[in-house]
Amino acid sequence: MAVPQNRVTKSKRNMRRAHDALVASNPAECPNCGELKRPHHVCGACGHYDAREVVATATATDLDEDAA
Ligand SMILES: [Zn+2]
Repeated sequence: MAVPQNRVTKSKRNMRRAHDALVASNPAECPNCGELKRPHHVCGACGHYDAREVVATATATDLDEDAA
């Protein structure tokens, strides 16, 4: 089993952890539906990106159009 050769000092440990902080997300409002969405990502609520629908949502898809 690998064993550390030297003790990591509090200073070195804390310097390593200086970049471990979590950053808060920066949600932006969807211009189509107003839901909060991640910047540069497709809106999860309405499937729109850049003012057009790129992902069909469940409400927009008619699955029974061939059944009738
Ligand atoms: Zn949306």
